[in-house]
Amino acid sequence: MKKERLLDNLVEMLKIHSPSKKEGEYAKYLINLLKEMGASIYLDEGYLQYGGDSPSIIAKFPGDIEGDGVTLAAHMDVIEPNLNVEPIIEGNIIKTDGSTTLGGDDKGGIASIIEALRTIKEEKISHKDIYVVLTPCEEVGMLGAKYFNWDKVPHDMLPSKNMIVVDNAGDAGIIAHSAPSKYDIEISFQGRKAHAGIEPEKGINAISIASYALSHMNIGRIDDLTTSNISTINSEFPSNVVPDICRITGEVRSHSEAKILEIIDSYKKLCDEAIEKFGGNYKLDYKCDYPVLKPKDDLKFAREFAKVYEEINVPSELKVIGGGSDSNIFAEQGFNSIIIGVGMNKVHTVEEYLEIDELLKTTEAIVRYIKRNE
Ligand SMILES: [Zn+2]
Repeated sequence: MKKERLLDNLVEMLKIHSPSKKEGEYAKYLINLLKEMGASIYLDEGYLQYGGDSPSIIAKFPGDIEGDGVTLAAHMDVIEPNLNVEPIIEGNIIKTDGSTTLGGDDKGGIASIIEALRTIKEEKISHKDIYVVLTPCEEVGMLGAKYFNWDKVPHDMLPSKNMIVVDNAGDAGIIAHSAPSKYDIEISFQGRKAHAGIEPEKGINAISIASYALSHMNIGRIDDLTTSNISTINSEFPSNVVPDICRITGEVRSHSEAKILEIIDSYKKLCDEAIEKFGGNYKLDYKCDYPVLKPKDDLKFAREFAKVYEEINVPSELKVIGGGSDSNIFAEQGFNSIIIGVGMNKVHTVEEYLEIDELLKTTEAIVRYIKRNE
């Protein structure tokens, strides 16, 4: 493993502008690099369906050992403002001048994957198949993962199910294995319009119906595994009109999808109650934004990786996280993901920075994991 080579590659990548839906140039760079390194490439064109400009990339480094290999994954898009990044390396830290984000989320992860692969090649380490999956648009609702056309992928390019996602904030040693599912909800209350001054009794105030239902809903922290939030309420009429429409939106997330449906059901009952009291009508729509992420092997893979960290004296921590990522979407395809720390800090802000030693530790752990699978 070569620190200078990793950093040179990282700085080069940080300078390529790749915000969500505009990762095309960066994808080309990566495709060329992976080809040069000897990979077979498959490109998924899911982006055509959502108006992006970059494919998802599957790269395969065939192994010289039989058996189920491993997949290394990361995302290509970065959070804006990220144009004209000037990465500053100061001791153990890579940061910016504070006018842009760094884009270390997730180019740190990609740099780590590339250096791990270079090391494996250089040291002629025997290995099973290694796949790399790089997605666009992770940061804007995991569009790359959601629109991935798995049916079109040739059989010999289908990535191994055990997936190491190199995209976690915080130190090396962090191994996230579970994340909640999230459902978006939208309730439209329908009342009846009337002149508020002349004949208000003929109207049904949609805001009143919504308020009644809302004020009885259990929102916020529901239990250890479940949270709920109402985030918009919308109704706007002149003061002399009894409003006939009021719309609210929000989300429910939980590590148990049954619990989510239970909560939504309780909201429905309250809406029924409100309608009974005020009249009018309502429509409640909900949609799964992403499914739950949980280990498919009783944490075997996560524990194996924790052992690898410990072998290089990095304290490891198995973790449950509160947000969704590509891994939630890929879980539906049978992928068994862990999301590991790369030394990213203050991600999604212009104060973002990467800790170089953490990045190196995670890279070393990836190499070691692949090596121990000999
Ligand atoms: Zn990320």
